[in-house]
Amino acid sequence: MNYDVIIGLEIHAELLTKSKMFCACDNDATGKKPNTNVCPICLAHPGTLPQPNKRAIELVILAGLATDCQISAYSKFDRKNYFYPDLPKGYQISQYDQPLCRHGKLETEDGPVAITRIHLEEDTGKSKHPNGKDYSLLDFNRAGTPLLELVSEPVIKNAAQAKDFCQRFQQLLRYLKISRADMEKGEMRCEANISLQLPGTWEYKDGAISALKKDKLNPKVEIKNINSFKAVERAINYEIERQGKLLDKGESIKAETRGWDDKKNKTKPQRLKETAADYRYFPEPDIPPLEISPEWVKKIAQEIGELPEERIQRFIKQYGWRREQAEIIIANEDLSDFTEQAISEADAWLIANQSNRPRTDKKIASLIVNLISSELLKFLRADNQNVNELKVTPENFGQLACLISQEKINSSAAQKILEKMYHTGGDPIQIMNDFALEQTDDESLIKETIVKVLNDYPEQAADYKNGKVALLQFFIGKVMAETRGRANPEKIKALLEK
Ligand SMILES: [Zn+2]
Repeated sequence: MNYDVIIGLEIHAELLTKSKMFCACDNDATGKKPNTNVCPICLAHPGTLPQPNKRAIELVILAGLATDCQISAYSKFDRKNYFYPDLPKGYQISQYDQPLCRHGKLETEDGPVAITRIHLEEDTGKSKHPNGKDYSLLDFNRAGTPLLELVSEPVIKNAAQAKDFCQRFQQLLRYLKISRADMEKGEMRCEANISLQLPGTWEYKDGAISALKKDKLNPKVEIKNINSFKAVERAINYEIERQGKLLDKGESIKAETRGWDDKKNKTKPQRLKETAADYRYFPEPDIPPLEISPEWVKKIAQEIGELPEERIQRFIKQYGWRREQAEIIIANEDLSDFTEQAISEADAWLIANQSNRPRTDKKIASLIVNLISSELLKFLRADNQNVNELKVTPENFGQLACLISQEKINSSAAQKILEKMYHTGGDPIQIMNDFALEQTDDESLIKETIVKVLNDYPEQAADYKNGKVALLQFFIGKVMAETRGRANPEKIKALLEK
């Protein structure tokens, strides 16, 4: 049968603050021994009092402003009670009915998705269950890490849109330095709520639910343990199929929490779904309510620079790139900065070396974006390296593009130079001279080489004369190889044809 797929997302992200949410412990426990990054407050010793981290509040408001949320003038913390060994207090300090941000939206390729709320809470410790042992280990280093939680409206229509939403939100968190949001490290975690409904049960308007016939709804299933974007898509698709088969057979769906098993490629039941009543929420008595003044919000808003989508639009307009090209560069903020610097360095260099040159950065920008997407990213991906670890400076990269633009080197020489720059750093002009890679138009050299090549391949030469013109490319390649990639391919072609 046909069903409407209804997906809502919950995204948690660890905030990039210096200290934890309610104490002065370092918020980065990377590389530290278990249970060394703790204090009486985050271990919830009796008599300790939590003190909210101001910066964490600001970062959540910043995320809210960037997603068109309304920022609450009044907000508070609440206790969410549940027992779990890695939760030292026996409750989590979270926000229940007065979240910091509400009613926002995030654009996806498939249209806007309404955001119900974004609130602030604290993370738990970690449980480890050693293989074959009859005990578990607890590490509280992460306990009390400030955590942002975003809840979307259940208006996402398919797995691809859910993945797109998560990726765009991650990009935003990184751009605004709210979170590192690395899913594999657990810095960003996605949970999906999925239900299948008979068509006509829901109506949407502007990415939000506008009408809903409650008596007919099938219950939703929550999926946890999703730790990559690929898993977001796969887990949701698996769940859609599982629920669809059950409904087709006339069976009902259990409202439950299921875990995604990435190796087995399926979800499995974890527990029945809690409701708000199970958590016995009540206002946190140890922290006074928050008043958020318009002046404070205005100050936080100044931190929002150019957002990813705005930057894409500017790149398209300013550099004449296609949208896909802009998206490749924008996927990484460091790469965006590197690219812009390289373009501006190249432009400055061309102006300095060519008098009367009009300032047209589109041509050089197009050369640079091609060079990055076809060559530089290949190296980076092969080594799993970040742009900020590059030995190539934007200045040298810009100069390399200038050498191509001025036809001093051809593309095969550019590849060789870039490879050397990538491994050892260095100036492209120096490398070009050291390895004699400068492109040559030397007619006598090219003619001499052509004669040699034609003598080496007499059969192909005869075939060409008999009309197999496609062989021209073969000969150009051979002459290029003989000149170690230095000869100007245009010149070779013209002389060969002659
Ligand atoms: Zn602490």
